[in-house]
Amino acid sequence: MTTKAGKKILIVEDEKDILQLVKLYLEKEGYRTCTATTGLEGLKQVKTEHPDLIILDLMLPEMDGIEVCKRIRSDRETVRIPMIMLTAKAEESDTIIGLELGADDYVTKPFSPKALVARVKSLFRRLDRKPEDEPARYGYGTLAMDLTRHEVKVNGRDVSLTAKEFGLLEHLLRNPGRVMTRDVLLNSVWGYDYYGTTRTVDVHVRRLKQKIPLLNDAIVCIKSLGYKLKELDAPS
Ligand code: CA
Repeated sequence: MTTKAGKKILIVEDEKDILQLVKLYLEKEGYRTCTATTGLEGLKQVKTEHPDLIILDLMLPEMDGIEVCKRIRSDRETVRIPMIMLTAKAEESDTIIGLELGADDYVTKPFSPKALVARVKSLFRRLDRKPEDEPARYGYGTLAMDLTRHEVKVNGRDVSLTAKEFGLLEHLLRNPGRVMTRDVLLNSVWGYDYYGTTRTVDVHVRRLKQKIPLLNDAIVCIKSLGYKLKELDAPS
């Protein structure tokens, strides 16, 4: 595993106070940073600095975050760089676009720098996991999922799930703390060629919650975005 000390994070943010604060907190955690205050400059830095992760503000001069995100994701060299978007609550529809364009996560302003650092760490943790490290089991409180046996138990008792419910739960357990859009869930569980609507996801989440009551509080619906499984050890 690479140590975080070697990781370089590009922060693209035009509000200087926020930029400095984020930079300070990340450096305090041992990350290296580089910064840009406009969209164009950010895009240039992506090419020259080869950051390991990008924190991208949505509202930027010269070129907005959506366009920057689009260009990063359409370039073969940069398509895989993890990205966290900074958005304001009023920009909810842009947040959706950002996630659809391939941002890995987003943080809504105003945010605490600590919370942002936690997201950065969790994103790196997720990415550092190699396929062979993928556990064959997942645990969540009293819930235990065994992929090899295709079993789900709560408090040691079997819960009978359909294949899609099982797939949906597996996907959520694999990505705790991460907002999964309905489209992403639909594509991951049902497949790209599935001819259905995102309503399908809502129906299956509801059934999962009926079958496993502890998920009622654990799976959070993020209005107009999708769903998130709360991290059990998440900092509040
Ligand atoms: Ca801004």
